[in-house]
Amino acid sequence: MSKRDYYEVLGVSKDASKDEIKKAYRKLARKYHPDVSDDPNASEKFKEAKEAYETLSNEQKRQQYDRFGHAGAQQGQGFGGGAEGFGDFGDIFDMFFGGGGRRDPNAPRQGQDLQYTMEIEFEEAIFGKDTTIHIPKEEKCDTCDGSGAKPGAKVTTCSHCNGSGQLNVEQNTPFGRVVNRRVCNHCSGTGQFIEDKCTTCGGAGKVKKRKKIDINIPGGIEDGQQIRVSGQGGPGVNGGPPGDLYVVVRVKRHEFFERDGDDILCEIPITFTQAALGDELEVPTVHGRVKLKIPAGTQTGTHFRLKGKGAPNVHGYGQGDQHILVKVIVPKNLNDRQKELLREFHELSGEDTLDEQQDSLFKRMKRAFKGE
Ligand SMILES: [Zn+2]
Ligand SMILES: [Zn+2]
Repeated sequence: MSKRDYYEVLGVSKDASKDEIKKAYRKLARKYHPDVSDDPNASEKFKEAKEAYETLSNEQKRQQYDRFGHAGAQQGQGFGGGAEGFGDFGDIFDMFFGGGGRRDPNAPRQGQDLQYTMEIEFEEAIFGKDTTIHIPKEEKCDTCDGSGAKPGAKVTTCSHCNGSGQLNVEQNTPFGRVVNRRVCNHCSGTGQFIEDKCTTCGGAGKVKKRKKIDINIPGGIEDGQQIRVSGQGGPGVNGGPPGDLYVVVRVKRHEFFERDGDDILCEIPITFTQAALGDELEVPTVHGRVKLKIPAGTQTGTHFRLKGKGAPNVHGYGQGDQHILVKVIVPKNLNDRQKELLREFHELSGEDTLDEQQDSLFKRMKRAFKGE
């Protein structure tokens, strides 16, 4: 039997880096893993890719393969008893099953983790919220209790794998007999043969349901943070524990407020006269309106801090502040009387209204533009 070139199998060039080889293998493994692929030759293709990867990912084996071809690469590998199975590829299996490496397809496996995204209001993120979500998820079928068999149906041990859920595939090579283990395709690795399948779930043992889940959103949560709801992911396999549910929280933008960690930022417009004469304002905070004194002569861009008027820290470490940025609005659309008063004001004050620093800046600029 002629073997395909390992580089060809992985679809990489002869000088491919370790990373490229790993990436190419992962791609193929995801595509052809017998537990996930519908391809009738998936198992063979998976094995081929795995073998190519085993050789090309190992510096020494790769050198031997480059020099001597397939014969070289197989030196030093266990022949005859090489029933290594899948266990030595823990990282690949993590991608599929979320658990550690495993050898036995009948072993209990944790269910899949699920992700759900929910949008909440700005204030809800500050104060927290108890809510209920409805998510479509796979649940154990109640009719058959997850077995996939019609109640009372005869369940026999799979005759192909004798209940182990795995088959040993032997291959004769010029160097001896190689045994590989793969998931039994007759029973999909369950080790059982069901004569009458459960009609509710069609033998799958699980059904899709819309499930109600209570979620507690803690006060102070920020946009993009996630809440883990333990045990509300996909159902476990072979009696394994269920996966977890991750709720990703998206916080809606607010008309006036912006979050900066535990602090809240807000811009407040004030009139030119309020800024010049000073005033006491009522400013909005998420905790209600708060009085803020604007001293006379407040400049645009002045920043005030309202202590403790921000968001609580989501981990319980204190409370943020609200920061207010004052923006002085220059009046537009003045009527004749207003214009007259302002002209009078101008004549009266000239540049006397400027403080020392502003005055000296003005003078320097005047000089600069006159070229003095
Ligand atoms: Zn069922
Ligand atoms: Zn079987």
